[in-house]
Amino acid sequence: MAVINQAAKVLAKLPGGNIAVASLDFLFNWARESSLYPLTFGLKCCAIEMMATAAARFDLDRMGVLYRATPRQSDVMIVSGTVTNKMAPVLRRLYDQMPEPRWVIAMGGCAVAGGPFWDAYGVVQGVDTIVPVDVYIPGCPPRPEQLIDGLLKLQEKIHKASVRDS
Ligand code: SF4
Repeated sequence: MAVINQAAKVLAKLPGGNIAVASLDFLFNWARESSLYPLTFGLKCCAIEMMATAAARFDLDRMGVLYRATPRQSDVMIVSGTVTNKMAPVLRRLYDQMPEPRWVIAMGGCAVAGGPFWDAYGVVQGVDTIVPVDVYIPGCPPRPEQLIDGLLKLQEKIHKASVRDS
């Protein structure tokens, strides 16, 4: 991404360069938002709703969202469930193994802020204390429609990005 980023900065200084950068933005954003590959990262009950979202009734495939079982092929981490202090370093390691650009969705009250276990000594009070979160989805558990809405919000965010900022 560093090469593209540098090329975009040079291109923007040339006559008509901003038009070329805008076209590049459109192309990259369209490709990224149309092929989100979430890392399968179910930790607790919210994971059942995450799995249901990918199954036949809600069918995430039609949005170009395909779950992957490896961080190397994923660009979205959907944290669905309670994050314990023991699991936190593993979550961070998996996040670090994902290629950039990458995004994180905190799904459910537990991932957002500890949920019903907010005062438990072994539970992380929100996954945003470990990795940067792009979209928060409240609920205990959130329904598949809410996860789909969260993914649409993430697509909107990606749509506004520029290669100059990467
Ligand atoms: S938010 Fe509720 S449903 Fe989701 S993991 Fe926590 S306790 Fe389970």
